[in-house]
Amino acid sequence: MQRFCGDIAFPIDPLFRGEKVAIEQLAQLAGCDVGALVRVSIRHLGKGHFRLREEFASLQSFQRTRIRVCPECIRSEMPSVAEPWRVPRRLQWKFSSIRSCPEHGSMLECLPSERFNKDARDFAAQLQKHYGWIMDQPVVQAPSSPFEAYLANRILSGRGDRWIDRLELNVASRACEVLGLRIAKGPDAALAGHSEPDWMNYGALGYEILKDGPDSLSDCLSVMARVDGVDGRFFGRLFGPWMAWLRGRSLGDEFEPLRDVVRRHVFDNFSVRKGVLVLGVPSEGIASSNPQKSLSLKGFAKRNAEDLLYRGLATRDAGGGIVPLNFVTQKMLDAYEREKKFFRAGQSSHEKAKTSAYGADNVRVSGQSSLSVGDAARQLKVTVKTVGYLIQHGMLCGGDASELYRRGATVVTADSLAQFQKSFISLGELAEITQRPQGAFSMKLRNANVTLLAMPHDLSRIYWREDVNVDLTTEK
Ligand SMILES: [Zn+2]
Repeated sequence: MQRFCGDIAFPIDPLFRGEKVAIEQLAQLAGCDVGALVRVSIRHLGKGHFRLREEFASLQSFQRTRIRVCPECIRSEMPSVAEPWRVPRRLQWKFSSIRSCPEHGSMLECLPSERFNKDARDFAAQLQKHYGWIMDQPVVQAPSSPFEAYLANRILSGRGDRWIDRLELNVASRACEVLGLRIAKGPDAALAGHSEPDWMNYGALGYEILKDGPDSLSDCLSVMARVDGVDGRFFGRLFGPWMAWLRGRSLGDEFEPLRDVVRRHVFDNFSVRKGVLVLGVPSEGIASSNPQKSLSLKGFAKRNAEDLLYRGLATRDAGGGIVPLNFVTQKMLDAYEREKKFFRAGQSSHEKAKTSAYGADNVRVSGQSSLSVGDAARQLKVTVKTVGYLIQHGMLCGGDASELYRRGATVVTADSLAQFQKSFISLGELAEITQRPQGAFSMKLRNANVTLLAMPHDLSRIYWREDVNVDLTTEK
């Protein structure tokens, strides 16, 4: 690559750095589509961050100065020393958290270091130079890991819609490793000084927890406090390396969604004195909202107990009675009542409009008046799962327009979406308007006692538009 660019007098350094102008110039020179070349190129975003396909990578998560290979892959594909450029590079080898080759069950190896970084970036030239070294490398066995398989699949095939998929790649991968370190080595473990095979194990341990979302993480953190011989009174002490890592100043805004879950767990489970910072957000000294054991259903909530059960907000106790779940507060039950009355009132006045605008015929004919669940989720800036919940419980109107969409796909009528947006606003939308990280902003709303729509924990947060006053969104 260096030689080729030298021959055509194309400066290679800006290209290696991932500068947009260089990529565009190369596309022009080669007569290929700019968009396509940009998509497969490493793009520098500034501050040590890169964009790679749809993913986001940091200098820590992404190896820029050494080439790593699976010696077995190279050996089996390299035809001869004269033609090493025939071996395709595997994109996933660049990611620090991917340490093994699933095909050969062996560890990846770093090629010997170079004096100049740019020399180490020329894959074909490096293979040629280190041909003998690669041939001589012994195979170091490494068990296959679902954690690495997840990362590789995500890099190569795109993200899914789970909570862990929505974390940026550098956040998800390192979070798995550090959580696994805390699980395996306890609260006193140091963040540094572990071997590559150790980190592989830690990553797999952490992935087991984080793949199942924020509740699973919160459960895991709760379990840590209940281990014998561990001082569970102070969260910093208890979570050890996990908390030390999350506090790191070098971690960017992309870590906020993860920090937010940990923060919420801390505020809910520890008594934190007013003003004490928990991952950058001061405690309001509000008593833990967790012990709701005495909360019972009364009045409106009691009359709608069956619906609360259906909504995932209540459960049946041993005696067959319906009781609110642990996380449900009186405030949440009030929000439920407010929401139910709001939609009930809306229904009677919109009844006429509903039959014409929401009618199945209309949906089928125009196609304009409905959106896929995914599009609705994007528009509301909430998860697909949340849209499903809103449809299921009548807050959004969904119809089945099988002629327009994949058979059986649920679509959301544009009218009901517009109606919904008139009264409600999601945390994702608020974060975009205010240009602030979701995590920090949601704590601010929580501290200002702004009511959420009553929904289970694993769904996106949605607020009443009228409650979010201008002060909250404009104040720095
Ligand atoms: Zn291999």
